[in-house]
Amino acid sequence: MPRPLLLLDVDGPLNPYNAKPHRRPEGYLTHRVRPASWIARQMQWQHRPADRVRPLRLWLNPEHGPALLALPYDLVWCTTWTDEANTWVSPLLGLPRLPYVDWPTMHQGDPEDLHWKTRHLVTWAAGRPFAWVDDELTERDTAWIAAHHPAPALTVHVDHRFGLQPEHFTALAEWAAGLVPGRS
Ligand SMILES: [Mg+2]
Repeated sequence: MPRPLLLLDVDGPLNPYNAKPHRRPEGYLTHRVRPASWIARQMQWQHRPADRVRPLRLWLNPEHGPALLALPYDLVWCTTWTDEANTWVSPLLGLPRLPYVDWPTMHQGDPEDLHWKTRHLVTWAAGRPFAWVDDELTERDTAWIAAHHPAPALTVHVDHRFGLQPEHFTALAEWAAGLVPGRS
């Protein structure tokens, strides 16, 4: 059996953006970054030229990079940041350039009230076992994936106020260790 994929969201699990607005969570460093998609959105919403758009505040815990690399998974960005995660997030965490899920559309509604990522990431995984780490997934997504993905899958919900915690790393390591070749 190939190594499972670890489909990794940025905002929530790695960037606990909803922690107290002006108080950085312990262990995190503050970065101010200017991804092109962020600048473009802010220009539109705020009717400002690019040089008047404030950078995006990004809280990252430098220990998360090595901890993720130590897991027996192939890491994949699974985020609205798409390839910009490689430019702005990977270097700050000591991660290499990673494959990323490219979305045909983002934030669209769903007839079964699934998360907008769910159907596409299952297609993208193409039958490989995966764990999906996200602050927005729900039990509906977990159930739908179990019914539609032909290989083992784990969903890990992370609170966007706190980001990834030691127990999430433990759960990911234990799940990967329990994958048995030839069984699903
Ligand atoms: Mg998120």
